[in-house]
Amino acid sequence: MITKKFILGSEEWCDLPQLKIPAVKAKIDTGAKTSSIHAVNINPFEQDGIPYISFDVYPIDNTSTCVKCVAPIKDKRLIKSSFGDKQLRYVISTTIKIEKRSWEIELTLSNRRSMGYKMLIGKEAISPEILIDPNSSLLFGDKTILKINKLYKKNTMRKTGLHIALLASNPALYSNRRIIEAGENRGHKMSFLNIKQCYMKLDNNLSEVHYRGGKILNDIDAIIPRIRPSQTFYGCSLVKHFETMNIFTVNKSDAIRNSRDKLYSLQCLQEQGIEVPVSGFANSPVETNDLIEMIGGSPLVIKLLQGAQGRGVVLAETKKAAESVINGFKVLKANLLVQEFIKEADGEDIRCFVLNGKVISSIKRSAAEGEFRANLHLGGKATKISITREARSIAIKACKALGLDVAGIDIINSSRGPLVLEVNSSPGLEGIEAISQKDIASMLIEYIEKSLKYKNKLKYV
Ligand code: ADP
Repeated sequence: MITKKFILGSEEWCDLPQLKIPAVKAKIDTGAKTSSIHAVNINPFEQDGIPYISFDVYPIDNTSTCVKCVAPIKDKRLIKSSFGDKQLRYVISTTIKIEKRSWEIELTLSNRRSMGYKMLIGKEAISPEILIDPNSSLLFGDKTILKINKLYKKNTMRKTGLHIALLASNPALYSNRRIIEAGENRGHKMSFLNIKQCYMKLDNNLSEVHYRGGKILNDIDAIIPRIRPSQTFYGCSLVKHFETMNIFTVNKSDAIRNSRDKLYSLQCLQEQGIEVPVSGFANSPVETNDLIEMIGGSPLVIKLLQGAQGRGVVLAETKKAAESVINGFKVLKANLLVQEFIKEADGEDIRCFVLNGKVISSIKRSAAEGEFRANLHLGGKATKISITREARSIAIKACKALGLDVAGIDIINSSRGPLVLEVNSSPGLEGIEAISQKDIASMLIEYIEKSLKYKNKLKYV
């Protein structure tokens, strides 16, 4: 809240703490109505029904310093630019801090590349307590390059690091945020690439990946694919394309593709002698009855082949219920798997995080009251566990069987010993980091460094 009179010059250095922009020089122009910031790669998305916008800001002239921002969308408005044309712009609300005063302003996101200032403060952001002295500027002082570099320490350390691209869909997800943060903290340039916005050129002489707006991605050293199930086809094609360009990937496209098919991955595991629950799969509706009998009758678990996070996993307590669910799924032409129900697991399973042939962390997941699925997304609780040597060796073998370097292996304890339920090629970090107190995101980055024989030389540039 501004209480006493506060005088600003025609330009001032501003801090936008919520956007993690500690210094941007803004023009204060009461002739303009709205405030705006120079933003590129503007990308709206939705999370939990809330609309967000991700965008990049290059706040300092003539430098590559880039701040990746995410904010809830407040509005979308037609704004008249200084050239008189009307542009539809996203509006966000954020805190601005000048000297020791902070207040909330609305900011529109626009490409101000051709403008003299990266930010403009218009009259809507100026409350009556703020006076503008248009004949003076930088009333709170200028900032030296040294000072700016210090404020943007992470960014100025980037150039000597690797360029690592995270291929995913939502930059606001915990796992994605942690990976970007861990890479930046180790001095690397981290790029979030929205899978849907990448496109490929297959050319025997020079293959390329382009990003929205036509940008050629030609300086990437490594990729971290985190592909959501609905994007398996396109995501894997993209990973394959990077492979053909000799760019290191933490998981190969074939391995990701294979792990996405619950039946195929169980077949690969079984082929390597790894125990899995008795499972059945059929195509024709006529066989439903025998399919149920084949795996030992009810109760049984029915799974959609391409499901994830427990969605599409159903417990049928009776034969009748099993028949109805199986036939229902078949009408929908969904590929499904039927599986013996491991009742003795009592709603618990073990998630092992395997990285480069080692179990680096494991947690026990227990299903919520009245639920048999232990998925954390379905309200399951995670607790610490120290796994047996047998479970550890099974997890490592399972990862190898699918050819994955990074995976979450789900193991269920049955009366005949541990069985592998599933292999996940994009395991979430949130639950496992919180419970194990391990910095798994940094371990992942270290793995890339090791694979690329990168020596960590941090220095300011
Ligand atoms: P998703 O890939 O959708 O998470 P899973 O096959 O891992 O599917 O199943 C989700 C959860 O359901 C598991 O974590 C486990 O708790 C429970 N579950 C799955 N299969 C069985 C089974 N055969 N017997 C008992 N519980 C099971």
